Amino acid sequence: MINLILFGPPGSGKGTQATNLVEKYNLLHISTGDLFRSEIGNKTPLGLEAKSYMDKGALVPDEVTIGMLKKKVQENPDVKGYIFDGFPRTIPQAEALDAMLMANSQEITSLVALDVDDEEIVKRLLNRAKTSGRSDDADESIIRNRLSVYKETTAIVAGHYEKKDKTHTVNGVGGIDEVFGRLAEVIDRSLVA
Ligand code: AMP
Repeated sequence: MINLILFGPPGSGKGTQATNLVEKYNLLHISTGDLFRSEIGNKTPLGLEAKSYMDKGALVPDEVTIGMLKKKVQENPDVKGYIFDGFPRTIPQAEALDAMLMANSQEITSLVALDVDDEEIVKRLLNRAKTSGRSDDADESIIRNRLSVYKETTAIVAGHYEKKDKTHTVNGVGGIDEVFGRLAEVIDRSLVA
């Protein structure tokens, strides 16, 4: 199996690139943000709980997030592998993911991080808000909060996988195809390693 973590701050292009990577590597794309938005759309209790955090740009508690992720993985056992997008965002989430994969004799193949600077992120998300309808994209102070959470809590997840020599960073600024080429290059290299 190929188990990729697509990593990077909000607005770094993870969702866009995941769509292309799914096609090339034939993997199941699991975005915890998308799963939460679908729960919110269906007005489930989980969705209602998640919304209160997402509206502030804060992280949904680990227990809720890990439970939802595990359920999605268990519902889709017969796949060639997964692209985890927006997960793991904390060390406990990374540890839960590692343990879950290990229980099936699997592991993370590679974490690929998209590097994009803060000002570019703010510009991209404010622009995305015009079409995404996402309230967490429309307000600059919420965007800046999401960026702080990324730096304070999430960025160390890259270090967790760096210790296992699995972290790779690519420049996330450029055309969609250009960035995709950079990602495919490091993923292909990690597949033969
Ligand atoms: P995203 O679509 O990945 O930008 O996520 C949107 C929001 O959903 C985040 O700002 C968090 O509030 C929540 N969220 C998504 N994934 C996670 C996660 N792995 N852990 C905690 N909260 C998450």
